[in-house]
Amino acid sequence: MGQALSDAARLQPLEGRTPAIATLCSHSSLQIFHGARAEGLSPIGICVGPPQRFYDAFPLAKPDRFLSVPKVADLPTLVAPLREAGAILVPHGSFVEYLGPEKFAALDVPVFGNRAVLGWESDRRKERDWLESAGVPMPDRYEDESEVDGPVIVKYYGAKGGKGFFLAKNREALADFTPTGPYVIQEYVLGTRYYMHFFYSPITDGGYRCGSGSLELLGMDRRDEANIDELYKLGAQEELLKAGLRPTFVVTGNVPVILRESLLPKAFDVAARIVERSIELFGGMVGPFCVEGIMTEDLEFKVFEVSTRIVAGTNLFISGSPYSDLKEPGLSTGRRIAREVKHARATGRLAEVLS
Ligand code: ATP
Repeated sequence: MGQALSDAARLQPLEGRTPAIATLCSHSSLQIFHGARAEGLSPIGICVGPPQRFYDAFPLAKPDRFLSVPKVADLPTLVAPLREAGAILVPHGSFVEYLGPEKFAALDVPVFGNRAVLGWESDRRKERDWLESAGVPMPDRYEDESEVDGPVIVKYYGAKGGKGFFLAKNREALADFTPTGPYVIQEYVLGTRYYMHFFYSPITDGGYRCGSGSLELLGMDRRDEANIDELYKLGAQEELLKAGLRPTFVVTGNVPVILRESLLPKAFDVAARIVERSIELFGGMVGPFCVEGIMTEDLEFKVFEVSTRIVAGTNLFISGSPYSDLKEPGLSTGRRIAREVKHARATGRLAEVLS
């Protein structure tokens, strides 16, 4: 599905006015609204059904106004009021996943970042082509079950919060897998997971140079995943299976982490490769993204996914992180987004950070 408007026509409502920042009321919306307000941009909450009352409890993160639709499929009907309000949409995991990446990319409202990235992220095969061609180490992928020679994880496409994933300790165990959608079979990597929150600004001078701009590290988390993270307490896999217990990866929360300082060069190198290849492939990924991978005992970092937008793990750092504090005390990813919009506007470069 394509957009009806040209890039220039889509950005037209922003001409000569201070933009508003709009996102779906979910996921990281409190942080996005808080960051917008802190930068003097008016936050607009998009909601399905009536606004949630909990926003009243957080005055610094409460949108100035809500735009409501009865169901997710009606979100495109908000295009006209959002354009009228001079809104810039900030994509987050729930927004893109609930609406669907194609429908989201077809909205004729200015979007923060490059909307072309969504098509590369939502298709795990395209995402792998991107990362592999950038020289980023990834878990092995098996095209066919017969190639499997060790433990594997079977994953569905899109951001499903790890829902329905299947673990098999060997090829034989894969026979129990019944697919319910498009999937990939990956090597199961043993190690420690890190979810690294980066931000790429094509319009910022100085800092860690990458592409035409600057690469920033704003935070890092690890996800709590039910029930896999606690399952070990109940003993070996076979015994669990006999008891009818299968591991699942449904995200239930996030914990802050930091990386050994000596591993930071590796983290920046991987993130910079991903950005630079994105520029060659589709004009660049702009703004927040998360490099999600596993550090093995040999200190090899294998990337299993890149989320090309703000991730919920950044919610840990609304008042800054051990990394963002070294750039500017108290800087959240939500505020960094609003700051980028303001800087782009002040320098006449909005078209470089919006699509
Ligand atoms: P989200 O979109 O919420 O990030 P998702 O549905 O896209 O989730 P992934 O992030 O790819 O799924 O994986 C979910 C979880 O599965 C990871 O957080 C990690 O714990 C585990 N995982 C994924 N790939 C591997 C792998 N190759 N080896 C070991 N564990 C893995």
